[in-house]
Amino acid sequence: MADITKIAEQAIAKLRGLEIPPSPDNFTIWYHYCAESYPDLKRTVDILIDNKQDFSPEVCANLFERFFSQNLENQNLSNATEKLEGVIKRAAEFLNEAGEGAAEFGETLADVSGVLETSSGNPQIREIISGIVSASKQMEARSQILERRLIESSDEVAELRKEVEVTRIEASTDALTGLANRKIFDITLRESAALSMEEGEPLSLLMLDIDFFKKFNDNYGHQTGDKVLKLLALVLKESIKGQDTAARYGGEEFVVVLPQTELANAFKVGELIRKRIAKKKIVNRTSGETLGGITLSVGAAVYVPGEPLVNLIERADMALYTAKQNGRNRVVSEDDIDVQKVVVGI
Ligand code: GH3
Ligand code: MG
Ligand code: MG
Repeated sequence: MADITKIAEQAIAKLRGLEIPPSPDNFTIWYHYCAESYPDLKRTVDILIDNKQDFSPEVCANLFERFFSQNLENQNLSNATEKLEGVIKRAAEFLNEAGEGAAEFGETLADVSGVLETSSGNPQIREIISGIVSASKQMEARSQILERRLIESSDEVAELRKEVEVTRIEASTDALTGLANRKIFDITLRESAALSMEEGEPLSLLMLDIDFFKKFNDNYGHQTGDKVLKLLALVLKESIKGQDTAARYGGEEFVVVLPQTELANAFKVGELIRKRIAKKKIVNRTSGETLGGITLSVGAAVYVPGEPLVNLIERADMALYTAKQNGRNRVVSEDDIDVQKVVVGI
């Protein structure tokens, strides 16, 4: 009890020292920071303090959301799923073992019955033996049925798990392009921002939009347009590394999350993608006709530790908008534009 009071007092003192309003959410953050209940929270807040980050209402709200709302739910869910998987696996192993044991027992009984049948001449004993033999055969048959059922059950569990996995992948994938969908982008960006803060590594974001795509659709049809979206998805996949995530943000807009990447390098990745797409010849396979080329405009921005993620997205979007304004088919970095009003939040 005394400890709790002491920790609460430390939390209040921290809040006062950093001039953070002692709201219930803020108190929760700082109570658990002082109690060192979550190592990730402690590390993140320490990095923010080291970086002399202002604990603005946005930063505090972001911390609370990350560590005490969604994250906790996700963690509980993933713990529960893990536990369930463990139980199912152990049950399946147990069922297999039980099945094998029953089969072995049946085999042993069959061997013994063979020996007894041949070695006894007394009719009464022979009768008893034949009773035991037929009972053992019945038991063996039953144990075989049981074993088959157990194996079927564990196969069903395995099948079910595969279905769950397929559903999970479908729910996270954009059906047309096979890239991550918007939901997975949101989760990835949030997780990448948390890691970036914890590890003190930069995190960049590219936002890409096909130029004059409406016109392309009007000229060649929506289906041909869809093929172009698939082609762009391929180029994106070829242009990024394992830790990066390309996602369809919506319509003909795409995003790429680049962990451990400085803005200048994110710009280079944007240029690589832009050039690769601009070089592609788009040919109508049925008619052999060469269609008009496709170009991309790209905006690049880098995460400011602790900032709300909408600010990062807005800066990337603003850089993209500038690329469009400046003539399209180009990459613009947030460094090249005046993003002041986005940083402070509109
Ligand atoms: P801008 O260079 O300014 O981006 O011009 P734009 O024509 O690309 O932009 P606008 O926002 O006016 O139009 C986007 C077009 O993208 C409209 C829509 O037909 C097309 N589009 C969006 N989603 C899909 C899709 O799933 N398939 C196809 N074929 N077209 C799509
Ligand atoms: Mg667009
Ligand atoms: Mg467009």
